[in-house]
Amino acid sequence: MSCDKSTCSACDKNGCASHGRLPNETQEQYEARQRLADRMAAIRHKVLVLSGKGGVGKSTVAANLAVSLALEGHRVGLLDVDIHGPSIPKLMGLESYAAYAEDGCIVPAEVTANLRVMSIGFMLQDRDTALIWRGPMKIGVIQQFLRDTEWGDLDVLVVDCPPGTGDEPLSVAQSLGDADGAVVVTTPQDVAVSDVRKSVMFCRRIGLDILGVVENMSGFVCPHCNQTIDIFKRGGGEAMCQDMGVPFLGRIPLDPEVVQAGDRGEPFAYLKSKTTAGVAMLEAFAPILALVGRAGGGGSSEPCACGHTPAS
Ligand code: ADP
Repeated sequence: MSCDKSTCSACDKNGCASHGRLPNETQEQYEARQRLADRMAAIRHKVLVLSGKGGVGKSTVAANLAVSLALEGHRVGLLDVDIHGPSIPKLMGLESYAAYAEDGCIVPAEVTANLRVMSIGFMLQDRDTALIWRGPMKIGVIQQFLRDTEWGDLDVLVVDCPPGTGDEPLSVAQSLGDADGAVVVTTPQDVAVSDVRKSVMFCRRIGLDILGVVENMSGFVCPHCNQTIDIFKRGGGEAMCQDMGVPFLGRIPLDPEVVQAGDRGEPFAYLKSKTTAGVAMLEAFAPILALVGRAGGGGSSEPCACGHTPAS
């Protein structure tokens, strides 16, 4: 399967189309690597959303970050590679979308003209069936998603990664090549923060920049008495950031409307932007919006060392 799309601006990092096969690489593996490099070269910024454990709001942050970026007018892709718990179809109201192939590429769902979404959930016939795949199969699916989804040219790809620090997030990070970095999501209590410390170490070990940590579910404002209740404690994520020397992006409070919007498949960051949680989300996302708003990014407009002029 080939998408016939040729760029070479990634040649210094992922290998470009004019480079030969690596030692021990089959022709098929070589072509797959080139297709991945070409695909990634058409995407200016890549942001991974990671968490130390499940249930802390990683997919919620990824979905709302993607929506916030699209609302700024950027061309955005949202890729859900959380193989065991793909929540993006539900959160984005896309449960009825079934992915299909066209010209050898996987066609993502188009939410608006500038927001496309792809999820492993779109490939499952029965959404209640748990996937029982061994490691290499999962890695193969993740790589195929990155390689064969027809995003077109994007300003930014937001990737909702599997939780933890195992082979799956590692494969995503390695396949993306020149990612801008990771947004790490945690909740404030010690059991979550101790896992997120591992995520920070994981990023450092693989050379992935940490764009910052979001402390989600941080405080709950009681609608009856207006007092703030710290259900999962408060400040744990921020303290960890100071301790480990990584940027703190901000706190998002617990808000039942976040759950309801997610269950209805409505983008909270768009519909509820004026609420306390909506404002907190936008504040936390501001550095990422600024990063994508700046000129430049992943692909280079300089000629490659191989002499080709990269496609724009
Ligand atoms: P993860 O991707 O880490 O497993 P999800 O994003 O799927 O977590 O969120 C898990 C649940 O928590 C969902 O029902 C979501 O709506 C809810 N949730 C996430 N963030 C908040 C928040 N700030 N306030 C209330 N509920 C939230």
